[in-house]
Amino acid sequence: MTFHLITLFPESFTSYLNESILARAQENKLIKFKFYNPRDFAKPTEAARMRAKNGKADEKPYLRVDEKPYGGGPGMLLQALPVINAIERALKEIKKEKRKINKRNSKIKNYRIIHLSPGGEKFTNAYAEKVSKKYDHVIIVCGRYEGIDARVKKIFKGDEISIGDYVLTGGELPAMVMIDSISRQIEGVLGNSKSVEEKRIASHDAYTRPEILEYKGKKHRIPKILKSGNHKAIDEWRAGK
Ligand code: SAM
Repeated sequence: MTFHLITLFPESFTSYLNESILARAQENKLIKFKFYNPRDFAKPTEAARMRAKNGKADEKPYLRVDEKPYGGGPGMLLQALPVINAIERALKEIKKEKRKINKRNSKIKNYRIIHLSPGGEKFTNAYAEKVSKKYDHVIIVCGRYEGIDARVKKIFKGDEISIGDYVLTGGELPAMVMIDSISRQIEGVLGNSKSVEEKRIASHDAYTRPEILEYKGKKHRIPKILKSGNHKAIDEWRAGK
């Protein structure tokens, strides 16, 4: 699975994605990340272009990606074109990959575009599982400011997804939440596939060593049943029966 991330802040991903299980999954070539920054696809402003035309080019022209919303309202919006160009680049990468894979005569599944938005459909484990099974490439579009010009999601149809009923300053954290959840559904990412919740009897409470935990003079024991060796009874206990 390759995650293609459209983001103004690619560096915000590095520490989380390169630790622990997700780092191992990358080493084992089960998942891959590619970043596309809309700012790299933005054009210098009209004023900067005029300065360049008059021989007074800025050393490093500021590449603007935000603009005021039409109709008024607070804040700024990410302009459509830099995001569109970034998505186009991701699609090109996917095509390139497809051609390589087709040469090896193996099959490539489809891709999906996910637009992150606090007003989207609620992200669930079931959705993560579906994405992990159906697609080899996922393009995740992270908004910033007051969001992205709505024409982007009209041009590139896909899923509009929210990770919960709260508003964050950008789509980077939601993208990481989804990547984490989708990745653990991919065969081989978790050491033990039974760890995927819906494949086992889920209990929120789990215990590990020591059997008796002493804290502030009090002894905290694990539930006796877990030491009984009776796995049927343990499963029933875990299922809350
Ligand atoms: N008024 C805007 C809206 O309703 O879309 C708020 C935009 S929010 C400040 C900036 C960006 O953060 C959004 O475009 C989206 O990509 C991301 N975002 C914020 N909260 C989110 C959530 N709960 N789920 C998914 N994405 C979220």
